[in-house]
Amino acid sequence: MQARELVKRYGDREALRGVSFEALAGEQVAVIGPNGAGKTTLLSILAGIVRPDGGEVAVAGAVGWVPQQAALYRRLTVGENLLLFARLERHPDPRASCEEMLELTGLGERRGEIVARLSGGNQQRINIAIGLLARPAVLLLDEPSVGLDPRQRARLWEFVSGLAGGGTTVVFSTHDIQEAERYGGRLLVLADGEALFDGSPGELREAVRREAPEAADRDFETAFVAYLQHRGH
Ligand code: ATP
Repeated sequence: MQARELVKRYGDREALRGVSFEALAGEQVAVIGPNGAGKTTLLSILAGIVRPDGGEVAVAGAVGWVPQQAALYRRLTVGENLLLFARLERHPDPRASCEEMLELTGLGERRGEIVARLSGGNQQRINIAIGLLARPAVLLLDEPSVGLDPRQRARLWEFVSGLAGGGTTVVFSTHDIQEAERYGGRLLVLADGEALFDGSPGELREAVRREAPEAADRDFETAFVAYLQHRGH
């Protein structure tokens, strides 16, 4: 996936000011940055939901979108939700697609359960299963681990890392810097609509050492906050 010089304006506000980046097959890219940095705007443009005012996105294959708020029908069962989305997406054989996703996400045993009664972690799995229905080459997740307990988080990342291991490009946003360091082979740091940094967690450490040496040996989150501050954010 390649994004070139993406620009998005909301009235006078520039949510993105020429952001470019590339993600290869099997890469896990974490998009991090302060509130209002443009993370959701970037992901929704990559997902094809929001049109940019400038720039372009090139993807070889389908894109799957896992929004922050799962658009699930809480009174329907797991299976009914998946079937509904497979139909909405006009799959040639919605039942087969639904079965495939239940299998892939380990939700088979829960197919008959009402969504409202599931744990947050299992609801997030359905959300991801819906994002995967299109068999995407690129999976985009907007703050996927919010509200999950540590065990559910670990399961989420194990699953997502498995997808990346199979060649899916994964791009996710998060406010959890430790999680970004752990699961983002690459980090894209956005602030005020601009890409401040694009590289590995190790390279970000090096950048902190250059620009905010007093924080270089602190924990990753502290180092990151110091880096942002040195960059005027
Ligand atoms: P957060 O970490 O708080 O989720 P974010 O990095 O995802 O923030 P965005 O939601 O992409 O940031 O917002 C970027 C900027 O664009 C913000 O200033 C926001 O107020 C503005 N913005 C986003 N969506 C809209 C919209 N639909 N209408 C007007 N302004 C918007």
